[in-house]
Amino acid sequence: MAERVVIIGSGPAGWTAAIYAARASLEPLVIEGAITEENRQQGTLPLGQLALTTEVENFPGFPVADLAAYLDNAIDPKKRRYMAPHAGQGVSGPELMELMRQQAVNFGARILTDDVVEIDLSSHPFSMKTLGGEQIEALSVIVATGARANYLGLKSEERFKNAGVSACAVCDGALPRFRDKPLVVVGGGDSAMEEATFLTKFGSVVYVVHRRDKLRASKIMAERALANEKIRVKWNSVVDEVLGNETDGVNGVRIRSTVDTDETEELEAAGYFAAIGHTPNTSFLSGQLETNKKGYVVWTTPARTYTSVEGVFAAGDVADDYYRQAVTAAGTGCMAALDAERWLAAKGLE
Ligand SMILES: Cc1cc2nc3c(=O)[nH]c(=O)nc-3n(C[C@H](O)[C@H](O)[C@H](O)COP(=O)(O)OP(=O)(O)OC[C@H]3O[C@@H](n4cnc5c(N)ncnc54)[C@H](O)[C@@H]3O)c2cc1C
Repeated sequence: MAERVVIIGSGPAGWTAAIYAARASLEPLVIEGAITEENRQQGTLPLGQLALTTEVENFPGFPVADLAAYLDNAIDPKKRRYMAPHAGQGVSGPELMELMRQQAVNFGARILTDDVVEIDLSSHPFSMKTLGGEQIEALSVIVATGARANYLGLKSEERFKNAGVSACAVCDGALPRFRDKPLVVVGGGDSAMEEATFLTKFGSVVYVVHRRDKLRASKIMAERALANEKIRVKWNSVVDEVLGNETDGVNGVRIRSTVDTDETEELEAAGYFAAIGHTPNTSFLSGQLETNKKGYVVWTTPARTYTSVEGVFAAGDVADDYYRQAVTAAGTGCMAALDAERWLAAKGLE
């Protein structure tokens, strides 16, 4: 029998959609992603991007507090046993995601730990296949598969993730480790300019490392960044290695000239921010949903989560290349569940 709602993805958008759909008695099935080495390497394990970070200081409802007792009480003890102990400061990304997952389970969401690898949206009910070989039919689908930050692919980036390496200035810029210290941003597009400009609020100086002699960013963004006295552009340069140690995390970056490739320079820095774009997790869709130029799923009606296929809704970062925050993903997850519920009711498919 076809599922009434299948939610694909397990970040804030997916779990919020699951909470709303479950409370509407739609018994949603959440396909949360598979636990594979490939997903680990590209940062797409179940629970999404937020589970890759430490402190989350901007999700409403979690001021600095000791949540240890609450977490012990709120999360299934079988899962809690394997989670890192609470650090005593606000909420961590993995904690917040486990709480969202548990809340969805409490209302009756069912979970399949698997990846959707193929989907057919050309006929109704929709059908999909998972990596583990399951075939699933669905009357409605919420795509909440998120996006992943692009990194240069250096071993040293991986080594210092959560220890000075980040791909989100808005998320991490205000952390104490970056205050009044030199910081490095890699990239030359609009988002690199935005990240660098934002980081000048915290860092003593922000180096922008760019491989060419001209920025790719729009004129207005580039001019604003270049006029900021805290921003210094390292033209014609690429990052060779992120430097640091286990105690302090990142303490510098070695850059290499793209003109004279023997020429290197070490910059002292407490933070390294990759701003070279994101990749939306849409390959399983095989082009069946309309996307924008960057490959993000397009909402076809303003302020609704409708996609180009009736009965398929999109929420979170997979449909958002602009805000990319946990709270906005959760917000659109709620919208997608309500849109799906109303669409099923209108079609008499509830
Ligand atoms: C290091 C880091 C720190 C961050 N810090 C903050 C912060 O402090 N505050 C904040 O608001 N935001 C932060 N963000 C951004 C925030 O994490 C994202 O905006 C948010 O997680 C997006 O949620 P989402 O639900 O759209 O999807 P995601 O979190 O991207 O999760 C989607 C998940 O769906 C699953 N999936 C993907 N493809 C498939 C498939 N084919 N089949 C089944 N499952 C699939 C995967 O498990 C994937 O991880 C941070 C991001 C990063 C990378």
